[in-house]
Amino acid sequence: MKIETYGIILVLIILFTQATWMFNDASKRGEQKWLWGFFGLIHCPSSLIIYLLVTRRINRQITCPHCLYSIKKDSQYCSYCGHEITEEERIEGFQNRIDSEQKNK
Ligand SMILES: [Zn+2]
Repeated sequence: MKIETYGIILVLIILFTQATWMFNDASKRGEQKWLWGFFGLIHCPSSLIIYLLVTRRINRQITCPHCLYSIKKDSQYCSYCGHEITEEERIEGFQNRIDSEQKNK
């Protein structure tokens, strides 16, 4: 095989690894995993940088499911009503917040 062929294979492996990581990370955060997974296949490392910037910025806060107060995403309890935030509610909180942000645009 020519040296160019090895180069292309190497680039494909890097892009695929990046896309897989972004897909898994987006899935964990309740983001649109297919969109991000596909985006990760387009370019390296700019796709990854954009992904990190966007997800880390949007997800800094979640909405308390009990009183709808905005709280930090890492909070164990709502700082307003004291409701305990479960892992499930945390993920739902992300999703609701993203949905409402998209509606406002
Ligand atoms: Zn609350």
